[in-house]
Amino acid sequence: MSRIVYVNGDYLPEEQATVSIFDRGFLFADGVYEVTSVLDGKLIDFAGHAKRLQRSLDELEMKNPTTEDELLEIHRQLVARNDITEGLIYLQVTRGAADRDFAYPAEDVKPTIVLFTQAKTGLADNPMAKTGMKIISIEDQRWGRRDIKTVQLLYPSMGKMAAKAAGAHDAWMVEDGFVTEGTSNNAYIVKGNSIITRHLGHEILHGITRAAVLRFAREAQMKVEERPFTMEEAKAADEAFITSASTFVMPVVEIDGEAVGNGQPGEVTARLREIYLDEMRKAAV
Ligand code: PMP
Repeated sequence: MSRIVYVNGDYLPEEQATVSIFDRGFLFADGVYEVTSVLDGKLIDFAGHAKRLQRSLDELEMKNPTTEDELLEIHRQLVARNDITEGLIYLQVTRGAADRDFAYPAEDVKPTIVLFTQAKTGLADNPMAKTGMKIISIEDQRWGRRDIKTVQLLYPSMGKMAAKAAGAHDAWMVEDGFVTEGTSNNAYIVKGNSIITRHLGHEILHGITRAAVLRFAREAQMKVEERPFTMEEAKAADEAFITSASTFVMPVVEIDGEAVGNGQPGEVTARLREIYLDEMRKAAV
């Protein structure tokens, strides 16, 4: 069955939804996006995603086509119209369609806004949470403003392909000897009683899941260190994991072919996943 998607004010069957070939998202990757997960038919951390959307738009001097209330209503409409109990909602905003020119177009050009759903069972009961992921390391060759959630995702795609070719699930990217993040997630290691993850800056995306998980970790009296770490430190860690809106908290059990800790998902990781899912389900809207 075809999905109902949202394009510039209209709810349409996906086959009827179109954007211009002159859209700057298509021509220049001049657009930003968000992904919000749905559990039990409700949105997980919608407010966090709406806030980061605004930040990405502000950094690129792009207009926000909706208010937060309107955006929430669109998300809810899509959940209802597509009967989503578990899955993801993608939101894309671009600077709109204009005559091709590197310079931003005139003020009156309207941004393009598109939302679509992906039904996906097994987000919360993902079997990978029990077995863990294998990752490889690759050089981070992305641009320097990774804190803006733009639609230019080609290097992360190349990273996923490299991981796949190596028989792994994902790649962690390394810059100047330190891990930045995963291709579509934030990266963590656990050593002793410390949870270590790279500090915020232009080098990584400010994960919405990261913010919540670190808050829950601190509330549970766990020690959090926001600092860079190397691949060597990661390989010698007791546990490793990733966070993202679609995987929540997911254990990493192998890095570049070497087992992390005892090669099984760790206890700290499992506890954080449980707390995250419990708390976020309670707060879902
Ligand atoms: N880093 C990158 C590069 C990502 O693409 C993502 C997911 N979009 C994340 C981190 C995790 O962010 P969030 O927790 O907001 O999904």
